[in-house]
Amino acid sequence: MDTKTDIQLLDGKALGERIQTELKERIQVLQPQVGRPPGLAVVMVGDNPASAAYVRNKERACGKVGIASFGQHFPTDTTQSELEQVIQALNHDERVDGILVQLPLPNHLDAVSLLHQIEPDKDADGLHPVNLGKLVRGEAGLRSCTPAGVMRLLQEYQISLLGKQAVVVGRSILVGKPQALMLLEADATVTIAHSRSHNLQAITKNADILIAAVGRPEIITADMVKPGAVVVDVGINRVTDGEGKSRLVGDVDFNSVKALAQFITPVPGGIGPMTVAMLLQNTVSSYTKTVSRSAKSPVK
Ligand code: NAP
Repeated sequence: MDTKTDIQLLDGKALGERIQTELKERIQVLQPQVGRPPGLAVVMVGDNPASAAYVRNKERACGKVGIASFGQHFPTDTTQSELEQVIQALNHDERVDGILVQLPLPNHLDAVSLLHQIEPDKDADGLHPVNLGKLVRGEAGLRSCTPAGVMRLLQEYQISLLGKQAVVVGRSILVGKPQALMLLEADATVTIAHSRSHNLQAITKNADILIAAVGRPEIITADMVKPGAVVVDVGINRVTDGEGKSRLVGDVDFNSVKALAQFITPVPGGIGPMTVAMLLQNTVSSYTKTVSRSAKSPVK
C-alpha cells in the first residue's frame, strides 16, 4: 500500500441507502408470490435510551423497505422464562422471518442463553452458535450484521484484502471475533488486539486495514496508524464537550487520523447505517429461503 494522503471517506450512509432501495425492489417482486411481506421482530427489554433509539431506527428502516415490524417492548423486570416464551412464539410465527434481541439486556437476564433459543434460520443478528459456527467453517449462513457491514463497505470501495495485514482492535462476540474471521475468509493476515494486548500502538501501526471496535472514545490516534492505511471505525460513543453539548464520536480520532489514512469511515454515517442494512438483508434472505421452500413443497 502506498503512502498517499488523499483522504477518501467510506460512505456507509450512501451505501446503506442503496442497499435499502435494492431490498425494497426485491420485496415488491416477491411479496405478491408469498402473500405477505417479510417480518422482523425486535425484542427490547427495559428503557435504555440508546437501545430505544437503535430500535426506533431499525423499525423505521423496516417500514421504508416494506418489512413488517413485530417489535415487542417489555418492562425491565421481565423474567427469563417470560422472554423464552416470547422467543418460542416468534420462532413459530410464520409472519416472522427474523428475530433480534436488542442488547444489552438488564443484568438479571442471561442474554447468551436467550440468543441460543432463537431458531437459527430466523437469527437476523447472526449471533446464534449455529451461524457463528458456519462462519468459522466458511459455510453460508446468517452473518453478524456489524462485521458483515464492514466487509460489504470494503468490497464496495474495491479494497483488496488479499494478503494484507488486518488488525481488529476488540474481541467481542458481537463484533471483534466475527470480524476477524470474515477478514481471514477474505485472505487477509489477521491480528486481534484487546485490552490485555501489550503495546497496542506497535500492533496497530502495522495494519494495512485497521478496524476499531473498542467502545473507547477516540482511542486510536494518528501516531497509531500506518500512513495509507484503511481505517474502519465501528465505535459509537456519546461524549459531552466542554460546553455541556453531547455528541457521538467513534473509537478513532477522526480529525488527526484522516490526514494520513487512505480511506476512513465517519461516525456517524459509516458502519452504523451498514449494520442496519445488513440486518434488513438478513431478514430478506431468510424470507427468500422460506419462499423457495414453499415453492418446492407439493401443491395441496
Ligand atoms: P465490547 O463488548 O465492550 O468489547 C470491546 C472490546 O474492546 C473488548 O474485546 C475489549 O477487550 C477491547 N478493549 C477495551 N479497551 C481496550 C483498550 N484500551 N485497548 C484495546 N482493546 C480494548 O464492545 P462491542 O460490543 O464489541 O462494541 C465496540 C464498539 O462498537 C462500541 O462503541 C459499540 O457501541 C460499537 N458498536 C457499533 C455498532 C454499529 O452499528 N456501528 C454495532 C455494535 C457495536 P477485552 O476483551 O480484553 O475486555
